[in-house]
Amino acid sequence: MNAQTAQILDGKALAQRMQTELATEIQRLQAQIGRPPGLAVLMVGNDPASAVYVRNKERACEKVGIASLGQHFPTDTTQAELEQMIQTLNQDQRVDGILIQLPLPGHLDAVALLTQLNPNKDADGLHPLNLGRLVRGEAGLRSCTPAGVMRLLQEYDVELQGKHAVVVGRSILVGKPIALMLLEANATVTIAHSKTPNLAEVTRQADILVVAAGRPEMITADMVKPGAAVVDVGINRITDPSGGSRLVGDVQFDSVRRVAGFLTPVPGGVGAMTVTLLLYNTVWSYSQQR
Ligand code: NAD
Repeated sequence: MNAQTAQILDGKALAQRMQTELATEIQRLQAQIGRPPGLAVLMVGNDPASAVYVRNKERACEKVGIASLGQHFPTDTTQAELEQMIQTLNQDQRVDGILIQLPLPGHLDAVALLTQLNPNKDADGLHPLNLGRLVRGEAGLRSCTPAGVMRLLQEYDVELQGKHAVVVGRSILVGKPIALMLLEANATVTIAHSKTPNLAEVTRQADILVVAAGRPEMITADMVKPGAAVVDVGINRITDPSGGSRLVGDVQFDSVRRVAGFLTPVPGGVGAMTVTLLLYNTVWSYSQQR
């Protein structure tokens, strides 16, 4: 027996289509600009998850024709050394996008480094100027994960105007910018977080539920309004009873898919979109060189 199941928001397929389009766009622009676009990912230390993300980003760059001009620094790199590198990359004509892979080792101040970026090369949209533009609803480089979520909802014609959107999580990286983008799309937005009492009561009101809490499978079917669009931003590695490890989101996929109208899988949902929006941002900055 198979009752209604949610339509899957296939981030992987959309990401592939967008990357094919980007590759064509890069070829066209390169004929005018005379060099390929360049993205510099700065990684400090040896966090294994970060290393995987950086490798994925470099592979995606290669696929579409973006030069990877990144640097890998040892864990004991100083703030001053990184600031120096950022100044060099800000000046480097071959570099259109700069990304500081987070989290950084504890002795480094990520916010201070982000403010040193040339805002026009801020591929992750986290410079205060770009966040300010988002708050004001002005054009500018947008944070990749939230922008990827919006693009995915748009692709599947999920209606936002006048709908109630609930965002679980209020980080500057995901929760807050997503809430602002949903507001920009004329949704009525509620932001829930770790201090919100009766979370299930809040999430059950959501026509669009975006979850970015970093809590494995915390959203269960009883917390979801029938027919809602559920976007799972979480990426959590858990150990299963057999001792193996696997990735799960913040949403309990198997139960929620029987209630929701739309649902993103993990992996293959938002994560695939994030990398693609990073490429998109880099190409957008590059296109300004014409
Ligand atoms: P974070 O730890 O900075 O923020 C988590 C937020 O969730 C906080 O605002 C907190 O108040 C809220 N929260 C925590 N526990 C909660 C609870 N029990 N109930 C309600 N709210 C709760 O994390 P982040 O950087 O925003 O990332 C969130 C998740 O998204 C993580 O799993 C991360 O790995 C994932 N992520 C995925 C992508 C992607 O590309 N798919 C990108 C960035 C982050």
